[in-house]
Amino acid sequence: MTRPIRVAVTGPNGSIGYAILFRIASGELFGKDRPIELRLLDRNTPESRAKLKGTMMELSDCAFPLLTSMTAYNDEYSLFDGAECVFLIGAQPRKDGMDRSDLLRLNGEIFRKQGKALNDRASRDVRVLVVGNPCNTNALIAMRNAPDLSPECFSAMMRLDQNRAMARVAEKLNVPVGGVEQVFVWGNHSNTMYPDIRFLRYNGRRVDDQFDEAWKESFIKNVATRGGQIIKARGASSAASAASAAIDHMRDWILGSQGKVCTMAVPSDGSYGIPRGLVFGFPCLCPGEGRYQIIRNMPMTPEVNARLATTRDELIAEARAVADLMP
Ligand code: NDP
Repeated sequence: MTRPIRVAVTGPNGSIGYAILFRIASGELFGKDRPIELRLLDRNTPESRAKLKGTMMELSDCAFPLLTSMTAYNDEYSLFDGAECVFLIGAQPRKDGMDRSDLLRLNGEIFRKQGKALNDRASRDVRVLVVGNPCNTNALIAMRNAPDLSPECFSAMMRLDQNRAMARVAEKLNVPVGGVEQVFVWGNHSNTMYPDIRFLRYNGRRVDDQFDEAWKESFIKNVATRGGQIIKARGASSAASAASAAIDHMRDWILGSQGKVCTMAVPSDGSYGIPRGLVFGFPCLCPGEGRYQIIRNMPMTPEVNARLATTRDELIAEARAVADLMP
C-alpha cells in the first residue's frame, strides 16, 4: 500500500473545518489509493477539546478505509511535524467594534507563530493553503516567518471566488457550470478582487461577448459580495463551499490542474507590476507534483491594470500594517 500522506488542519472545530475533514478522509483530495494521516489542532480549552473529540468520534464512525491515523495536537510544532499538506483554516472571527486593522494584527500573530512552526518542523516539500482571513496577508506572514521553506510552499485561497464567478457565468449563459473555463480572479480576497471573464471558454470554445457593461459591473460586485449575501441568507458564513474550494485548490496544486486555469493567491514573481513576494491572486496552471506556474502573458488593458492597481495597493497597505510581524 502507498505511504500515507501527512495532512495537518487548523480550525478543525470551525464550520469550514467540519465540512472539509470528512472529504479529505474519504479520499476526495488525493484519490482512492492514497492513505491519509490526519493531524488536527486542539486549542487546549475544555470546550474546544470536547468538540474536537466529538468530531474525531464521527470521523472514526465513518470507517474511512483510507484514514490510517488521526491525532489531535495542542501545539503547532507537534502538529506540523513532517506535515506534507497543511490547511490553515483557524482564525479569530471579526468581533463587534473591531476594525480591519485589529483583525489583521490579531490573526497576524496566529500566522506568525504557525509560520515559525512550519519552518522548523514541516516537510521541506510541504504545501500550505491559508484559508483564515485576511488570507492573502496571513499567508504572507506565515511565509515570511518560514525562511527555510521555499515561498512556493505557501498560497492563499481565492478558489472560492473563482468558483463563485464560474457559477454566475453559467447562470447567465444558462449552461451547466462543468463546461465553464478560463475564469479567474486577480488580487486580494476582499471586495477589491477582480474576477476576469475576458478569456472565458465554454466546452473549449470562445464565448462571444454576451455580457453588456452593466451586467459585467454587477457581476464583479456580486462575486465580491457573495460571502455577505450567504451570511444574510443562511445566517452563517460560507462553509461547505469554502471547504469545497479548498479541496479544489489543493488537489489541483498537488495532482495538477489538467491544463485548466486556476486561481491561486501566491507570492508574486513581479508579473503584472505586482511587487515580488506579495501574496496576490493570479491565473495559474498546475503541472502536478505540487508545482504551479503563474500565467505571465495575459493581455492587459488600462481598465484591467487600474483594477489590479486598486487590489494591489490594498494588499501593500495590509502588509505595511503588519510589517513588524515579518522578519
Ligand atoms: P469558525 O468561526 O466557524 O471557526 C473558526 C475556527 O478558528 C475555530 O475552529 C477556532 O477554534 C479557530 N481559532 C480561533 N482562534 C484561533 C487561534 N488563535 N489559533 C488557531 N485557531 C483558532 O470559522 P470558519 O470555519 O467559518 O472560517 C474560518 C476562517 O476562514 C475565517 O477566518 C473565515 O473568514 C475564513 N474564510 C475564508 C474564505 C476564503 O475564501 N479565503 C472563505 C470563507 C471563510 P475553536 O473552535 O477550537 O476555538
